[in-house]
Formats: sequence, C-alpha cells, structure tokens
Amino acid sequence: KEKAIATPTLTNYYLKKYGFSFKKSLGQNFIIDVNTLTNIIEAAGITKEVGAIEIGPGMGALTEQLARHAERVLAFEIDSRLEAVLSDTLSDYDNIEIVYQDVLKADLKTIIEQTFSEGQALKLVANLPYYVTTPIIMSLLTSDLPLDSLTVMIQKEVADRMAAKPNSKAYGSLSIAVQYYTNAHVSFIVPKTVFMPQPNVDSAVLHLNYRQTPPVEVKDESFFFEIVKAGFVQRRKTLRNNLNRHFKGVIEKEKIESIFGETGIDGTRRAESLAMEEFATLSNALFIHQ
Ligand code: SAM
Repeated sequence: KEKAIATPTLTNYYLKKYGFSFKKSLGQNFIIDVNTLTNIIEAAGITKEVGAIEIGPGMGALTEQLARHAERVLAFEIDSRLEAVLSDTLSDYDNIEIVYQDVLKADLKTIIEQTFSEGQALKLVANLPYYVTTPIIMSLLTSDLPLDSLTVMIQKEVADRMAAKPNSKAYGSLSIAVQYYTNAHVSFIVPKTVFMPQPNVDSAVLHLNYRQTPPVEVKDESFFFEIVKAGFVQRRKTLRNNLNRHFKGVIEKEKIESIFGETGIDGTRRAESLAMEEFATLSNALFIHQ
C-alpha cells in the first residue's frame, strides 16, 4: 500500500469497516498525521539496521512507518479487538510481529531475545497510552533490557518533568529517577489535532538515551531514591524540614545537621535547587546512619 494509515480518511475507513470504538480506559488516541510520524522516526534515529519495539500499535499508524524504516518491528498490544484490524492494515509487511499482551505483564526480555539478533541495536518507539505512561517508562528503565533508547509520545507536562533540570518548576523526583538511567530531552511538541479522538492536553515526544553507567555513584540505590523523594515531599519546605520529618525516630536531628555540615549542603536549601550529585552525596553520608 502506497498510502499511509495515518490519515483521517483511512482511519475512519478502518473504524467503520471493523465497527471499532475507542476505549478511553486504554488511552486510545490514534495518530492521523504522517508528518508527525516521520518526525518521530527521525527523532528516534531509526535506520534499516535497527530493531524497533513498539507499545500499543493501535491501528498500526506508527507500526507501518517503523516497518518501512527499521529492520523489523516487535509490538505489544493489550486490546485483542485490534487483531483483526492490524492483520488487515499491516498485511503488506512481513517484518512485523505483534504480541497481544499487556506490556507490563509480558516477559519482554525473553520475547526480545527471541525476536532480534544478538547485538542488534534496539530502539523503543511508542505513542504511549496516557493512563500508564510513568509505570511503563519506569519499568522499561529498571528492567535491564537490551535497549539503546526510548522515543515516546506522552503528555507534554510529564515529558517536561522527566527532562527537567534543577531550579525549574518541573524538576522533581521523577526527573532524577529518569535521568539516573538516561539522558533525557524533549524532541518536539505535538498539538492535540493530530490525534483521533483528540486528547485534552498537548503532547510531546521525549527522547531517552540509556546511560552505560549511572551519572552518580550511590551506596544504595533504593536509599538514594528514598532521600530524593523525601526531599521533594513538600516542595516549598527546606531540605532540613523534609528530611527531619521523614527520618523522625530513625535518624536524630543532630545527626542530620552534622551531615549538612560535613557535606557542605545547606539544610535551608530546597530540594529543587539540588543537582543529582548533591542528592547522591547526601544519601551516601546518611546511609551509614539509618
Ligand atoms: N500507536 C497507535 C497510534 O499512534 O496511532 C496507537 C497509540 S494509543 C495512544 C495507545 C495504544 O496502546 C492503544 O492501541 C492501546 O490499546 C494500547 N495499550 C494501552 N495499554 C496498553 C498496555 N498496558 N500494553 C500494551 N498496549 C497497551
């Protein structure tokens, strides 16, 4: 098929043909603009050698473009009603495999190993369902998968938070969690009008490049993330206040005070002014006392 799926005309045609109705609960907003898809493929750096992994192919709008530009595509779709639709819309492509499973429950590692050649560059590209954006991304970052990057269309506000730098409103524990595993940047903003049906909020394409090693050395990862979260519990309060509250009955105030002195991190600062390195220093110093 020369024509792309991602147009209002063809999307409407397939909707009618299969009597398909969108499920809001599954975050079903399909892309109806080829230009946006071309930009996503470019931002992801998809080439003929790359293995592409997609979450939520929907009617196959992005899947089709991935199949045209990548070596092969592996996609996960939770909604089995789409099986009949996708076997029609993507019938011209022999380099697509679709697994009808919840991506959060699938054994990704095994399926990826079975689908792609060892050592092949693998990139995940998706227009994610908004209701599970953060759980999906965090699970992809922490599951030790052989991926080079994630290029995901998500709510603009969440993309901003994930890519935020210190001293900005969007900076918080989510920024640090994401940037501990990846280099993050917002590639471009996407208006609501390229979707059917249109969502209530604008979207952005977020590019996350996996790091080889974390940017900071921490004695204990879960304790580091605990400190980060505790620091941001009440954004307007000082670090001193938030940490004392969090460690009440566990680490004495005096001890926390001495650690501010020892590390040279001023307890009157707010978490939003701390770089990831400073959180690492603080958590390493506190770790031995808890
Ligand atoms: N890729 C298509 C596009 O761009 O037009 C559809 C994107 S739509 C925003 C999200 C898709 O993810 C839907 O097809 C939905 O059924 C699917 N989905 C929702 N939750 C999922 C899950 N937990 N695992 C796999 N797919 C899921």
